[in-house]
Amino acid sequence: MCAEMEYVVVPKDPLGDFIRVYLAWAKDEEIRRRRAGSGGAVTAFLIYLLEEGEVDAVLVARKAEGLKGVVQLARSKEDVLKAAGDKWNVVPYTKELGEALRSADFGKVAIVGLPCQAQFLAQMRLMPLMESDFSEKIRVVISLFCFGTFATDAFISFLEREHGLKPERVASILLRGENIVVMSIDGRRITIPIKEALRYIQHGCLVCPDYTGIFADLSAGISESHLGKTVLMVRNEETLKLLKDAETKGYLNLEPAPPEVFEELEMKAEAKKNRAIRYLSMIA
Ligand code: SF4
Repeated sequence: MCAEMEYVVVPKDPLGDFIRVYLAWAKDEEIRRRRAGSGGAVTAFLIYLLEEGEVDAVLVARKAEGLKGVVQLARSKEDVLKAAGDKWNVVPYTKELGEALRSADFGKVAIVGLPCQAQFLAQMRLMPLMESDFSEKIRVVISLFCFGTFATDAFISFLEREHGLKPERVASILLRGENIVVMSIDGRRITIPIKEALRYIQHGCLVCPDYTGIFADLSAGISESHLGKTVLMVRNEETLKLLKDAETKGYLNLEPAPPEVFEELEMKAEAKKNRAIRYLSMIA
């Protein structure tokens, strides 16, 4: 193994440690309607955290124009509802994170990000670079499942060139089986085989071994066998307590995930880990 490879942590168990896996969905119909693909459990949980005073703000990525995203400090249900449901771009949030953590207005924050961001936050929690109570301010870190994000400019020109789709017409980008499915705002569906889309994925993502966000408190995403519900992997007791409280207070429904959900998670996490090992071996 070369020196560079020693810095990439390839987990033995690609799903990491967890104590429960649920299928979950928002009780609020409006949230379910807005998050039709996922059931809206993360949105409902964030709203619970804010409304019940468990956090003062949540840091979420919101779709701006085209494929670009911006980070928003959400302090109300309306702010959370405006945030994007699907992530296809890494949004750097260091500035907003610093602002939230320094501000006296915020005692506690919840953060929604990608596995690489959850890892960065875990390292900051363990070895704080900022003095004082940085780690105490981060109440919950939620990681969204991630197979990779696109090199934005290259992917935009591919969509325009090959499919005549301008970035401002993109409504969502989803991973479905062996394909990436791009939906336009007028309902057009473009199916791109993963092998073809791989050319436009950020190079760093090709050596990233973490699909679910093993360093987060809660990992969330969808299962293709249960579309319309959110898969929630709970990684510690404190987060489990919060989720149960959210269920009791009528924000979301939880049911134990059936075996096929585990099988799908294991298969995707293993595939991502193996992809990382394959690409790492090319640069070793
Ligand atoms: S594949 Fe890994 S590095 Fe790329 S955006 Fe997802 S979590 Fe981050």
